[in-house]
Amino acid sequence: MDQTFKCYADTPEEYYDCFIRGLKERNPGEPEFHQAVAEVSKSIVPYIFDNPKYIKGQVLERLSEPDRLVSFRVCWEDDEGNIRTNRGFRVQFNNTIGPYKGGLRFHPSVNQSVLKFLGFEQIFKNSLTGLPIGGGKGGANFDPKGKSDAEIMRFCQSFMIELYRHIGEDVDVPAGDIGVGAREISYMFGMYKRITNRFTGTLTGKGIEYGGSLIREEATGYGLTYFAENVLNHHSEGLKDKVCLVSGAGNVAQFAVEKLIEKGAKVVSMSDSKGMLHVKEGIGLELLQEIKDLKKKGKRLHEIQATGCEYHEGKDPWGIEADYAFPSATQNEIDLDDAKTLISSGVKGVFEGANMPSTNEAINYFNKHNTLFGPAKAANAGGVAVSSLEMSQNNIGLSWEREKVDNELQSIMKDIHQTCVKYGQKKEKVCYITGANVGGFVKVADAMLSFGIY
Ligand code: NDP
Repeated sequence: MDQTFKCYADTPEEYYDCFIRGLKERNPGEPEFHQAVAEVSKSIVPYIFDNPKYIKGQVLERLSEPDRLVSFRVCWEDDEGNIRTNRGFRVQFNNTIGPYKGGLRFHPSVNQSVLKFLGFEQIFKNSLTGLPIGGGKGGANFDPKGKSDAEIMRFCQSFMIELYRHIGEDVDVPAGDIGVGAREISYMFGMYKRITNRFTGTLTGKGIEYGGSLIREEATGYGLTYFAENVLNHHSEGLKDKVCLVSGAGNVAQFAVEKLIEKGAKVVSMSDSKGMLHVKEGIGLELLQEIKDLKKKGKRLHEIQATGCEYHEGKDPWGIEADYAFPSATQNEIDLDDAKTLISSGVKGVFEGANMPSTNEAINYFNKHNTLFGPAKAANAGGVAVSSLEMSQNNIGLSWEREKVDNELQSIMKDIHQTCVKYGQKKEKVCYITGANVGGFVKVADAMLSFGIY
């Protein structure tokens, strides 16, 4: 079905309903993508009604259709000599303000819908950073869990044998995401370099020895904490002595916990896909290091034996009494019931480390209860921001010091907060969802209109 239909509507509500109906018809069987577009359009539609040039230019309709989506076969051999086949993807969503930029996810749940939701979100997030980067995302339905190092290497190399022809330092610059860390990026970068015979900054999250940036590994978790601090300071609150719930035990969660501890907060939980660790007295740096070491080996949190830790199989942290929550594991980990549990646990602020961790019903519930809510595209933008700084360093052939990159990160998160306030202020309240969505939209939309119709 083409998009030549037009939503003739007298009200934003009618326009929204018509737009979402059309989107669902054009993209059947893609619930995560529908959810992400619905969440963003809820804020954008009232804005474009006040600024009809965007309706005339059909910007929302054009923005919700990826520039292209590549899907490909990835064959590799396991340690027993069996031939295995997975499906790889790259969604190049929008390069209006810079090369496509977004992570690669290796997880059995990866499919077209998940990557389209992530790529769509990435457009707005990248725009919010103020840096010249477009939106993209990719990955494969490959499960790195339980694979040997040699198997991971063979998979990454095979994945890159196809992906290399679609990417480049000024075309599309992938990074890591769930299941893709420094090891996987290194294997892929090695193969990219071998095939192209060029040493370029085509991937970010590289090792420090060969073009990576200091603070990239820490950036999403640190940035999340900096963003939360900006929000809280704006509301005359702070992190010191506050009880915080963190979910996840991967890259984002680990460095969010590290920075929260440094800011004087008491972090009482972390979790993984099998269960939750409750530490009543607060996670200390020694325990955090133990968790980092454990996760590097691909192990589960139930193996942590430290005193003061309670492990709860199959549970999430949302029922623990706390001040603030930082969901940092995966999409839709907070549904309506979890949102109710969080509010009755006393939580006054939710800051999203993961992408789309809250369902739209959960977000509505938070809004009704005046919960401070830092949406993912603003709160977790620190990772892609430092990835963009890695690209800058690669372009000029320099490596910046840790302190310089960290200062840049802090200033970017502060600017993102200000953008949210600028576009999200409603009387005395700031709606960070509207602020982030509209703030991210305006720059991309104006650039699209300047380019004309194509
Ligand atoms: P990791 O793979 O490093 O960690 C993911 C963590 O979430 C692991 O602890 C994993 O458990 C847990 N997890 C995964 N699926 C589930 C599930 N269904 N239920 C409960 N726990 C689960 O990924 P990252 O930390 O990099 O990414 C986490 C989130 O942050 C994702 O949404 C990602 O898109 C987002 N993000 C990441 C950025 C980055 O720079 N890395 C940047 C911006 C956003 P287990 O250990 O058992 O696998």
